[in-house]
Amino acid sequence: MRALTRNASETQELSDSLAQILAVGDVVVLLGDLGAGKTCFTQGLARGLGIDERVTSPTFTLVNRYEGRLTLNHLDVYRLSGEAETLDLDLYEMAEQGVTVIEWGHNISGVLAESRLEVELRYLEDLSEESMQSRNIDITIIGDDWNDRIPELETLLEPWRQR
Ligand code: ADP
Ligand code: MG
Repeated sequence: MRALTRNASETQELSDSLAQILAVGDVVVLLGDLGAGKTCFTQGLARGLGIDERVTSPTFTLVNRYEGRLTLNHLDVYRLSGEAETLDLDLYEMAEQGVTVIEWGHNISGVLAESRLEVELRYLEDLSEESMQSRNIDITIIGDDWNDRIPELETLLEPWRQR
C-alpha cells in the first residue's frame, strides 16, 4: 500500500489516524534514510495515542517510553551494531506491553516480532523545490496480525493515496 504526503504535518495526520487502529502488542518498523521522517511519523502516531509529551529521537537513549491511551515504546536501533545488543533490551517483553515503534528496524530483523507493519518513507526521485517536502510512504503487512485490519488500513490511507 502506497501513500504520498506533501509535508511533515500530512505525515503526522497519516500516522495519527494509523494510531487509531493500533493495539497492544503491535510492532511498527520504520525504514528510510536519515531525515526521511521516521521520527516525525512517530510524533503523529504518539499524538494519535493520546500522548501529550514531546516525542524526541531516541538515538542515544535507544528506547523512550510514553504513556497515553496505550503505552508507546519508541526505539531507534541505528546505532546498534547487531542483534546481540538487542537481546539486552528484552524486546519481546516490551512489545507485549504496548505499541512498539522501531526506527531502522531492519538492523535487527532477526529478533523482530514475526508479525509487524513495515513503513518505509522515501524522498521522491524528483528533488525539485516543490517535492522536497513530499514523501512516498510504503506500508507492508508482515505476518497474520494485520489481516483483520486491512480494510481499516485501506480506508485511513485513502486520503493519502497517490494523488
Ligand atoms: P528520521 O527520523 O527519518 O531521520 P526526522 O523525522 O527526524 O527523520 O526528520 C524529518 C525531517 O523532514 C523533519 O525536519 C520534517 O519536518 C521534514 N519533512 C519535510 N517533509 C516531510 C514529510 N512529508 N514527512 C515527514 N517529514 C518531513
Ligand atoms: Mg529518527
